[in-house]
Amino acid sequence: MLIDSHAHIDFADFDGDRDAIFEQMQLSGISNVLIPGVSSAHWQKQLSIAKKYQSLFALGVHPWYVTETFENDIVELKKLINQHLENDFMVAIGECGLDKIKSANWVQQISAFEAQLQLAEEYQMPMIVHSVRAHGEVLTLLEKYKLPKGGIIHGFYGSVEVAKQYLKLGFKLGIGGLILNSDANKLHKAVQSLPISSFVVETDSPSMLPKNSDQSRNTPLLINKIVTKIAVLHAKPAVLVGEQLRSSFFQVVDI
Ligand SMILES: [Zn+2]
Repeated sequence: MLIDSHAHIDFADFDGDRDAIFEQMQLSGISNVLIPGVSSAHWQKQLSIAKKYQSLFALGVHPWYVTETFENDIVELKKLINQHLENDFMVAIGECGLDKIKSANWVQQISAFEAQLQLAEEYQMPMIVHSVRAHGEVLTLLEKYKLPKGGIIHGFYGSVEVAKQYLKLGFKLGIGGLILNSDANKLHKAVQSLPISSFVVETDSPSMLPKNSDQSRNTPLLINKIVTKIAVLHAKPAVLVGEQLRSSFFQVVDI
């Protein structure tokens, strides 16, 4: 059974048919999702959805949601993590990181990311990292903190060289729907050049709808296509690659 390592299945986009999606996932060989945290305003709903569907989750502040008052959010985040320390479904800190496309809050983004790196270090937890056009800065900070449990660079889109630097720091690369785009040459090359154990798979639902899709949103059901594409790039059977990707995920998230 496969796992979608990054799905915002708690978002309102799924309020109408979440039960049906979980049922379809089971029928399609997808056993679970990891729901990443995004903001203090979302945490309670996220937690209740994770509980209802027995999903894995991470708690954190996404760079788009870092505000002037992010320090309060970090205090709340720490409280919430403490409350869930005995909860086996809480498996990581995040998603957090840096995003240069939405960089009006850049200075605060860096402080909020550092605060969450400190939490990951303190609680010895892996981290789900959002890194958009900011690999240099993210790598510098990851090197500074050297997290014992590493984590996942979610929605990875970069070169083989950048990929290797993340791998060296104990991170896995989250490969999502971008790999299905025929013009994603750089990503295809990176995936082809590295062992399957470097990757986990994710959809980032409801975002990251592949080009030419007739759907209005992305869902975890896309995972099978992503696994198939990785298998094709590696010229291996999809079933075998799926098993390897699953165990790669559990190397990061040891539950
Ligand atoms: Zn996300």
